[in-house]
Amino acid sequence: MLDYIIVGLGLGGASTAFRLEEMGQSFLVFEDGSVNSSKVAGGVMNPVILKRFTLAWQADAQLKDAKGFYKRLENHLNTTFFSAVEIYRKFSSVEEQNDWFAAADRSHLAPFLDTKLKAAITPGIPSEYSFGRVLQTSKVDTRKLLNTYLEYLLREEKLRKERFFYEDLKVSEDYVEYRGVKARRIIFCDGFGIRKNPFFSYLPLGGNKGEYIIIKARELQLEVTVKSSIFISPLGSGMYAVGATYNNQDKTPGPTAEAREELVKKLEKIITVPYEVVDQVVGIRPSTADRRPLVGKHPEMDNVYCCNGFGSRGVLIAPAASAELLNLIEHAQPVSSEYDLARFTRKHFKRN
Ligand SMILES: Cc1cc2nc3c(=O)[nH]c(=O)nc-3n(C[C@H](O)[C@H](O)[C@H](O)COP(=O)(O)OP(=O)(O)OC[C@H]3O[C@@H](n4cnc5c(N)ncnc54)[C@H](O)[C@@H]3O)c2cc1C
Repeated sequence: MLDYIIVGLGLGGASTAFRLEEMGQSFLVFEDGSVNSSKVAGGVMNPVILKRFTLAWQADAQLKDAKGFYKRLENHLNTTFFSAVEIYRKFSSVEEQNDWFAAADRSHLAPFLDTKLKAAITPGIPSEYSFGRVLQTSKVDTRKLLNTYLEYLLREEKLRKERFFYEDLKVSEDYVEYRGVKARRIIFCDGFGIRKNPFFSYLPLGGNKGEYIIIKARELQLEVTVKSSIFISPLGSGMYAVGATYNNQDKTPGPTAEAREELVKKLEKIITVPYEVVDQVVGIRPSTADRRPLVGKHPEMDNVYCCNGFGSRGVLIAPAASAELLNLIEHAQPVSSEYDLARFTRKHFKRN
């Protein structure tokens, strides 16, 4: 009998699996590549909401935990996927510059907003106003993290690259059983796949489609990430990721001409050098209406759990959410109320 079955190896499943490894617990992961939010993510770990100059929800605490977490995972996998990045906010008016200084005066934002503004970043992004640097920003190469971890877990026989068929899960009082695999508990980390999950599809995870384009712009010569109406992030060799869009209506998995058009329009207002669109990337963020995660136990089954709902900030939230869940299961510590999926039980869950 295993300790756990985990469904999904995005950031949620990977964080949960690594914490279980650290705790010496046995598990088997099922991963079928059916949804890919984590793999397409920009991977940026930025504690500040750059539209309003406010601190993202619990970002301070999450940041402290996440840095150590990703470094330990790098050591464990003997690879590197975590690095510092510089992010600059391009101001579009004097008011915005003043707002930045006002925000930097607040004690909780002061560690994250540099008050020494930069007049220029690169000739390809001319600006009447300055640029403000966000401090303590880093980036996780999520594709590398997940590919490396998946290969490792395959070698360790702790992962099966196959679809998990929800209807074949049998839940007993003391254990769960799936196609001959018995475990004490199961944790669903299936991202937007939750919509097909009969155990948790009652939860209001709407999903928000995100698209970005990859451009080649040799003359841009930009070495830092710039945030204006969109992010422009260097990928190396003259390539840049430009995005992303937010669409909570369209749940189709493919790229759209509308998103490309929107991004190109915004890009052309920012850069003045020639460029070529070479690719377009899509994913559906597992987002909830109240922008908080969905962590906790099934309302009726004591050995069925969920770790989901990270929206647009999975890199920061996943390590914290997996810790919340495993503290509940292994140490009987209640999940913090804002993470706890129980906030939806009364309204949305229909008893059998
Ligand atoms: C365009 C875009 C850019 C983003 N940029 C950032 C960013 O810069 N920073 C940031 O913090 N966040 C970013 N995000 C958000 C981030 O990607 C998500 O918050 C996070 O990846 C969600 O992780 P997850 O593990 O919950 O879901 P997912 O990554 O979707 O993982 C779920 C996994 O479960 C598997 N699965 C599902 N159903 C089954 C099944 N039945 N059987 C087997 N396997 C199954 C899927 O294949 C998948 O691997 C971005 C998202 C998008 C779309």
